[in-house]
Amino acid sequence: MSIIDAVPGYIRSLVPYAPGKPIEEVEREYGIAGSVKLASNENPLGPSPKAVRALQDRLHALHLYPDGDCFYLKRGLARKLAVSPERLIFGNGSNEIIELAVRTFMRAGDEAVMAHQAFIIYRLVVQAIGGRCAVIPLKAFTHDLEAMADAITPRTRIVFLANPNNPTGTIYRRKPWERFLDRISPEVLVIVDEAYFEYVSDPDYPESLVYHGKEKFILTLRTFSKLYGLAGLRVGYGIGSQEIVDLMHRVRQPFNVNAAAQWAALAALEDREHVRRTLEVNRDGMEYLTREISRLGLEHIPSLANFILLRVGDGQAVFQQLLRCGVIVRPMGGYDFPEHIRVTVGTMEENRKFIKELQAITKPFSRSVEA
Ligand SMILES: *Cc1c(COP(=O)(O)O)cnc(C)c1O
Repeated sequence: MSIIDAVPGYIRSLVPYAPGKPIEEVEREYGIAGSVKLASNENPLGPSPKAVRALQDRLHALHLYPDGDCFYLKRGLARKLAVSPERLIFGNGSNEIIELAVRTFMRAGDEAVMAHQAFIIYRLVVQAIGGRCAVIPLKAFTHDLEAMADAITPRTRIVFLANPNNPTGTIYRRKPWERFLDRISPEVLVIVDEAYFEYVSDPDYPESLVYHGKEKFILTLRTFSKLYGLAGLRVGYGIGSQEIVDLMHRVRQPFNVNAAAQWAALAALEDREHVRRTLEVNRDGMEYLTREISRLGLEHIPSLANFILLRVGDGQAVFQQLLRCGVIVRPMGGYDFPEHIRVTVGTMEENRKFIKELQAITKPFSRSVEA
């Protein structure tokens, strides 16, 4: 019996997360240049220029440990959100907040409820601590909140919701959410992942922050990775009650958010021009892509985020063919959508390149759909 043999089955059966392919890797493998990456829902305009300047101004201080309390970032964000700073917790990406919540509120044998086709990280993190996942099918590509509430048992500690959902880009609306919340007891933490909430323009979108308190335990997750263009720095945050956040602080590493991330995130928060342009480019790109995808005779799921799930036939094959043309998208087999790919809305130039290559590749498939 070795230390290797002692590793439990739930660790052995973990399937590592498959991230979007980096541009450098694709260009190296295929010997091409000028590729575009539309695979990870990153900001096509790049990082906030204000964030870049703030970073440049502070590089001389990189020998110092970061502020373990994220003091200035916390104050800045608390002011913007009009919540008390004690209700905020920052992480090395919002992915770390997911992990902190699971380690704080679940132990081996406990259950979490999540949608079958939601962000895969929820499942990985729960499985890694020996938790069990109740995985609920989507209904019309959207969270089935009624079925999710039905799936709650006395062992359930966390329900994961993503609104908008990744990889579908769909949202659940106010009525079903309020009906769901009515059925949630104080024994359950509802985690609402709002990584894309800034992109949503639907008036019936329920921002979870409004529903905190009222004897409900809700943890809202948000990130600087998408709208603010800081995915490479890794900074996200959770908003909860002070009680929830206090407990999570106990399990986090003292310096979990690096100094550069804190400086850049604070500056990005103030960069209204970058945010405005990002939303505008996304709106225009979404309109262009959905129109062109339909023109090619392909189906897509109407999305309120910065990416689109579309049905192309053999998703893995189309992904591979697009790679060879220097367009990186995301195959969706891992999400049990083998016929789909997910594409991030890029700059207009990137969108055009994607459509041009997609058209060449999927012609035979779209013809067979018409037939
Ligand atoms: C991109 C994304 C995130 C962001 O993760 P970070 O760790 O903050 O980069 C979180 N949740 C979902 C559903 C996402 O798609």
